[in-house]
Amino acid sequence: MPNRPSLHAVESGICFVDTVQKLNDSYMTGKTHALDWRKTQLLALKRMLVENEHDILKALKDDLGKCKTEAVVAEHGFLLSDIKHTLKHLNKWVKPRKVSTPMAAWPGKSFQQPEPLGTVLIIGAWNYPLQLLLAPYIAAIAAGNCAVLKPSELSPATSSLVAKLIPQYMDTSCVEVIEGAKDEATALLACQWDHIFYTGGEAVGKIVMTAAARHLTPVTLELGGKSPCFVDKKTNLQVTARRLVWGKWMNAGQTCIAPDYVIVEKGTEYELIDAIKLELSKQFGKNPLTSRDYGNIVNHRHLSRLQSYLEGMNVVHGGEVDEARPTMAPTIVLEPSLDSAVMKEEIFGPILPIITVNSIDDGIAFVNKRPKPLALYAFSDNDEVLDHIIKNTTSGSVCTNDTMMFMTNPELPFGGVGSSGMGSYHGRAGFDTFSHIKTVMKRSFALDVPFRYAPFSKLKLSLLKKFL
Ligand code: NAD
Repeated sequence: MPNRPSLHAVESGICFVDTVQKLNDSYMTGKTHALDWRKTQLLALKRMLVENEHDILKALKDDLGKCKTEAVVAEHGFLLSDIKHTLKHLNKWVKPRKVSTPMAAWPGKSFQQPEPLGTVLIIGAWNYPLQLLLAPYIAAIAAGNCAVLKPSELSPATSSLVAKLIPQYMDTSCVEVIEGAKDEATALLACQWDHIFYTGGEAVGKIVMTAAARHLTPVTLELGGKSPCFVDKKTNLQVTARRLVWGKWMNAGQTCIAPDYVIVEKGTEYELIDAIKLELSKQFGKNPLTSRDYGNIVNHRHLSRLQSYLEGMNVVHGGEVDEARPTMAPTIVLEPSLDSAVMKEEIFGPILPIITVNSIDDGIAFVNKRPKPLALYAFSDNDEVLDHIIKNTTSGSVCTNDTMMFMTNPELPFGGVGSSGMGSYHGRAGFDTFSHIKTVMKRSFALDVPFRYAPFSKLKLSLLKKFL
């Protein structure tokens, strides 16, 4: 079916129908199906990352003030290891997945055959601008697709670098980078795709899904939300605080799976706050605003949003801002009103609210009354407490006695549940997301049992029942 621009795309004067058509034409040649093509492209992407490491790290520094270690661990190195894992397992992933065949279909073979989807759209977000655009692209290539990559306009240095590098290294008949903001994204969404993979906020997620519905296009939505973190009264407080500080204040708190707020039992909050303060000074020094290891807030609009969260709050640590960078110091808010914006909206910044409850069960009830989170964390010395929390809550992912570390395991699919998203990726989950897992049954002409064919009789029916 030809791609047709929607009314809005025509109104904005932007139209990508020809781009999509060009990629569809390449796809139809069958070149992306070949395992060799997929591997060559993955190696080309690896070369792009390796040869341009310096420029990539600089772009991430320009966009978000990312220090080298964070940029390597969470973006550049993350992608290299994703490519390595994909190349290691691709031969296995593309193979037919054999299943048993019921007697009624003997002689026969049954299997599931992954096949590419076609041309896919990948829309990235600004907070990990390289990882969130290229990790889905790695999966899309592995599965044998053509792709359009749309980086976030809020991370312009990374966006323009990716737009420059991709055509230098990749097969340009099968990939296109489209830079831009809402108008470009809207025009892209008006086209017909074989899959749309979106990372970003919930409100735009709904726009993406509405646009996809027009063409019945499947979507993966990697969204956000408020990820809670339980801290039990019996926990290794020093390590808990260290890992909490690492997960909360990496990228200045602008991480979709960062602990959004902490739940502790009444009476233990001050001990925890002291431990966090000590860890903060160890990791970012006395003045984090001058620390090279501490990131920037993406822009002044987001800094103002974060500052507004602190109005009328009991700020027990931090709160200082540097307008010039721009950034906000690691900040702790104790017992915010549950009706306040800081407890209603995803914070996506360096503010950590701590709320107290009478018991872990009260904390579980609190979490379960709210939208299903993307990640959930729990710290305790007691395995029973941890298992109780895992069993009685739901979230995209859960990690105990640490924060965010599940991201290091490519065997674990990553994605949300409910309003934190749908679908998943990383490792084989990503390959499957960008594949159609086709059901295949191969029958033989041998043995053609006659009783399944009309005209039917009681005898035929009773024989058939034996095979059901
Ligand atoms: P963003 O502003 O970068 O937007 C995401 C993408 O949507 C961009 O490419 C942008 O151009 C596009 N976009 C903006 N308006 C649009 C529109 N009207 N129509 C179509 N596309 C449009 O990112 P954001 O939304 O500020 O991202 C923050 C949110 O993303 C947070 O909720 C965070 O938790 C979530 N997030 C989730 C993940 C994840 O992997 N689950 C990762 C990062 C961020």
